[in-house]
Amino acid sequence: MNRSTANRSETFVWPLAYSLAWLICAYIALELTQGEDGIAAVWPSSGIFVASLLHLRGQGRVAVTIGVGIASLVANYVTGVSLLACFGYTVANLAEGWLVFYLMGGENNRGKLLARPLNLLRFAGSAIIVSILSAGVAGILSANFDFEFLISWATTVGLGMLIVAPFILFLVQSDEGRRRLASIRTVWALMLVAVASLVAFGQSEVPLLFLPVLAISIATAALGLSGAALSLLVVAVIGSILTVYDLGPVSGYFELQGQKVLFLQVYFLGLLVSALPVALMLTQRQNDLVNLSRSNRFLTAAEKAAKVGHWRYAPAEGPVYLSPETRRMVGSDAQPHTVADIAELFQDSDRKRVSHILVQALSTGVPFAFEARIAGPYGEVFDTECRGEVEWSDDPEKISIFGTMMDITERANTMRALADARAHAERKAEEHQALAETDHLTGIANRRKILAVLEKTVLDARGTGDKVAVAIVDVDHFKSVNDRFGHEAGDRTLQVIAKILSERFDDVGVVGRLGGEEFLVVARGASASELDQRCTALRDFLCAYAWPVKDLKDVTLSIGIAELADGSSETEILNAADKALYFAKRGGRNRSVIFEGNLVRV
Ligand code: GH3
Ligand code: MG
Ligand code: MG
Repeated sequence: MNRSTANRSETFVWPLAYSLAWLICAYIALELTQGEDGIAAVWPSSGIFVASLLHLRGQGRVAVTIGVGIASLVANYVTGVSLLACFGYTVANLAEGWLVFYLMGGENNRGKLLARPLNLLRFAGSAIIVSILSAGVAGILSANFDFEFLISWATTVGLGMLIVAPFILFLVQSDEGRRRLASIRTVWALMLVAVASLVAFGQSEVPLLFLPVLAISIATAALGLSGAALSLLVVAVIGSILTVYDLGPVSGYFELQGQKVLFLQVYFLGLLVSALPVALMLTQRQNDLVNLSRSNRFLTAAEKAAKVGHWRYAPAEGPVYLSPETRRMVGSDAQPHTVADIAELFQDSDRKRVSHILVQALSTGVPFAFEARIAGPYGEVFDTECRGEVEWSDDPEKISIFGTMMDITERANTMRALADARAHAERKAEEHQALAETDHLTGIANRRKILAVLEKTVLDARGTGDKVAVAIVDVDHFKSVNDRFGHEAGDRTLQVIAKILSERFDDVGVVGRLGGEEFLVVARGASASELDQRCTALRDFLCAYAWPVKDLKDVTLSIGIAELADGSSETEILNAADKALYFAKRGGRNRSVIFEGNLVRV
């Protein structure tokens, strides 16, 4: 409905409908149930007007006031009420409606749900006060102060308001109320009420006035608040009409019209007082259930969005409760009863740990948190973060756990991917580092690496005072190996020499290739002469060595050895060894020479 249509119906359609309903009800009530005092037995119109004021907005209220004013004049006049009384009754009719409206809080509280107990109580109170005042006003304006007249007016107006207004407002205010009334159940419930009313009021042989009470109770249970109100209306209408035609028990018991009316009014009031509280309670419970289910829906939606489920282990209350989000992870068939069953929800590798944590929590009452994996119902694996609080009780049977289960699969996957990427990067970096420090031909340390080893060894030795000796090893006449056997044979020979050097010096230090056919041995904790002994042994070993190149023999080495002197640097020790090597070459090759100060010992 757009705004202008809504406005039109508020200021025109609804007021017209209310005014017409007012007129019809007033006419019927006056025609059928008017007593000797000129007052109808029931006056549903007062309820219609009050309901219209509580329902409509400002302009609508003005319109309905005008409409009802006219209707009141017309209805009273055509049923033979004097002109003065017509005006008096009309003012009273209008004033009573507005008074209830203001007692209910006026515009500020417009639209207040009448289906709430406190609002209904306030309405009942307002209706009673107003019906008394209305009787006074009607008495003054029609100059009739007869006590019975005043009582009759007040109860008639009060009943009209109490029976009719709630019914109308339940319907216009509550979609749920309307939905419930538009059902087959309503038809049979109302038929039951109608039949009970007809049986009770249509004969006077058997006293069956309790039947409508029963029928209203059943209709209330079946249809709730609006059902109760509608049933009351049905009983009131049928009861009034049948009594007016002198059928039924009321006419049998009472002779005077006033007595009959009073009896009916008390009877209807009794019905109202007995049916409405039950109906209200039912409605309240219904509302509570609706609210509860809405809260549950919100909770489920929140759990789904946050991927956090919850569960509750309370052995005294049956199986472990698993919320829908928890079930999404553990599977809808899971039916854990015990702590061991809960642990079973997790993967094999985590079960023992989880079980231990839960048992511990139950015995100490201390909150817990753990991460564990779950094999989901469709073969997927969930990483979960579980937290829990123990609900403590002195009775061990009643100790329970409230836990949450957060799906952290995405986070865990990201962390795992990050860890994998990091490990991969570290491996690659190590490989590159190794490549950058390795001689590609021989596989031993390259020049950069061996010089770095030397630098570090010298540095460390300064602190510890350890001995450091180095040996530069140069292959004699290696050019001729290449020349005679080819470059490839030369390469292979260099590889063999590197391997032999490594095997022989690994225990004292590090061997690297300085370049070409030149190698460097950096020995830590060894003196020059110890290194010299090893070099001599090496040269002896090579004499008889079977080289992997056909016809290659007599490959010899010249070696320059130097020992680190106090305060000297790695360059100085290297230069010293180089000098010693020079002397070894000059001395005829295939020998090792130790550098000693300016002297070189051969
Ligand atoms: P000396 O006894 O004076 O050391 O004689 P030499 O021939 O060993 O010395 P020189 O410095 O004249 O020659 C070194 C030769 O080593 C030259 C080069 O062909 C060879 N050489 C250097 N690096 C490699 C290599 O990686 N592979 C091979 N096959 N030969 C190499
Ligand atoms: Mg050389
Ligand atoms: Mg050489």
